Amino acid sequence: MEEKNNARPAGAVADLIPSFQVDHERIVPGIYESRLDDIGGDHATTFDIRMKAPNKEPAIHPNAMHTIEHVIATFIRNDAEWRDRIVYWGPMGCLTGSYLIVKGHPRPQELLPLMLRAFRHLRDYTGAVPGATPLNCGNYLLHDLPTAKWEAARYVEILETNPCFDYPLAKRITVDGATFFDS
Ligand SMILES: [Zn+2]
Repeated sequence: MEEKNNARPAGAVADLIPSFQVDHERIVPGIYESRLDDIGGDHATTFDIRMKAPNKEPAIHPNAMHTIEHVIATFIRNDAEWRDRIVYWGPMGCLTGSYLIVKGHPRPQELLPLMLRAFRHLRDYTGAVPGATPLNCGNYLLHDLPTAKWEAARYVEILETNPCFDYPLAKRITVDGATFFDS
């Protein structure tokens, strides 16, 4: 069945993979390309930095996820190799991972060294959470560094031993006539 994706005017961001979505019942932790956008002739690629199998194991605690956001965003935006290509880093609302948007269209495998560097950094992190102050953060008490470090250690182990890069796909659903997106 052909799905329409003509709501956006020509020249605006175009969804290049509108007909399929991820089958969340078969996701395992890994690094996945979830979206490719054409922005004025250049590409922006969204990666799912998936740390948990959705609905099969406990999700990440909101406090720990907030700490992951602060520490990993700070790290990758200062990484000498990737800092000029980082568009966005932020948590998934389902608390099973984070979104990473980069300029261009690298393969998920190319992000593996950066993610290993970043999550090893968090695993071994000591000191105060960067930006966890009323001046820099909208909810500065909502942090949990020990749990964030535990989650980072677990994810590093997965990336070191059995990283997965290919998402299981399912037909994209519609809700009341609108195409469903989760990001
Ligand atoms: Zn914050």
